This record gives sequence, structure tokens and C-alpha cells, in this order.
Amino acid sequence: MLHGIGMTSQRTRARMIERLREKGIRNEAVLAAMSAVPRHIFVEEALASRAYEDHALPLGMGQTISQPYIVARMIELLLDGRSALGKTLEIGAGCGYQAAVLGQLTNEVYAVERIASLLEKAKVNMRQLQQFNVRLKHADGQMGLPEAAPFDSIIVAAAGERAPPALLQQLAPGGRLVLPIGTTEQHLDLIECTSQGWVEKRLDAVRFVPLLAGTQ
Ligand code: SAH
Repeated sequence: MLHGIGMTSQRTRARMIERLREKGIRNEAVLAAMSAVPRHIFVEEALASRAYEDHALPLGMGQTISQPYIVARMIELLLDGRSALGKTLEIGAGCGYQAAVLGQLTNEVYAVERIASLLEKAKVNMRQLQQFNVRLKHADGQMGLPEAAPFDSIIVAAAGERAPPALLQQLAPGGRLVLPIGTTEQHLDLIECTSQGWVEKRLDAVRFVPLLAGTQ
């Protein structure tokens, strides 16, 4: 039985990587990281058989586990033209799927989540995966994480009306921030901290849960 589940997971995971390639993900390091993280452990048991489909899935508390393509796309944007992610901050960890993928690509990941019960799930998941290079914190990510700043890469998994100023302030020189912007209509934004200031690029239309203030 267990063996059967393992085989299915391997085959469907390989298919997920094929779909990511078809959709245009080219960075082999990103594809390898996506392939290394078992997405089924992050979803509720009843949905485990759908874990490798390219969709967002419910993770409880009205939140969703991000679509694999979007996770891969945003990380590819952070990496594009750079050799490494460096010290990385994720805002909106949920139960930790994207944080685990980031943890495959760089050795220092900080991930912040505002809902305590999801953060607890993320901690259990990281322990199960023995992913010890991801540090999880219960906080309002709009403030960033001053005690660990500056960051070479910041990735936000929930959409606000504008880039939170604290996140811009916490970018290292040459650092990059990728985040969804908007309410009903949303797009991805890529912001780079250059010697001439912040340079912003507006990219794909997307759909994310809202970036909310405070913790619960
Ligand atoms: N990264 C997750 C996606 C979770 S959905 C994954 O890989 O599946 C986005 C998450 O952002 C939700 O869990 C939500 O609670 C969280 N969030 C929203 N606003 C936030 C804020 N201000 N600070 C931290 N987390 C926030």
C-alpha cells in the first residue's frame, strides 16, 4: 500500500515537472527544487491524490497552497541572471510548501506567516522533511523581518495594493522582491534594488489571497 502511494507520487511528480516545462519554466535548479519537495505532505489527506496537479489547493483557514507553476515562476524571476537567491525572506508561508522549495535552493530562508495555526503546520512539515534551514516566524509580514534584514531575495505569497515599504527597505543592494499587487485585478511585480534606486517591472496577471494586517 505504502509502496503504491510512493510510486504514484513519483510518477505524478515527474508529470508536474513536465507541465512546468511546457508552461515555460526553464531554470533547471528551480525544476530540481520543485521535484525534490513532496507537495502531497502539505495538503490535506483527502486532497493528496491531487497534490501534483498544477492548481492552488485549500490549506484551511480560508487560505490556499500556491499553484506549482506560480511558485516556480516567482522563484525563477528572483534568480534570473543571478547565480543564487542568497538570504531569502518569504511573506505568507502558509503551511510551508514554497518555503521548502526555497530551502532546496539556498541555505538561509526566513518565512513569516500571520495565522498561528498555519505556522504550526509549517513547522511540523519542515520537521517531517528535515528541512532545518527554514526559520519560521509568526508575525505580520508587512513589517518584513528587521532582525534578519537585509535580504537578497524577498517573495510575497499574498496580494496587497502596493509593495510594503518595509520590504523595500529590507532589500540588500542588488536584492530582488517579487510580489503580487492588486485587489480584484492582480499582477506580479518584480522590484530590484539598484544603485539608482528601486527599479520596478510589471509582469503576469495572477490571483492571490489578500495580504492582511496584524496576526491571528
Ligand atoms: N506560501 C504558501 C502560500 C500560502 S497562501 C504556499 O507555499 O502554499 C498566502 C498566505 O499568506 C496565507 O497563509 C496568509 O495567511 C498569509 N498572509 C497574508 N497576509 C499576511 C501578512 N501580512 N503577513 C504574513 N502572512 C500573511
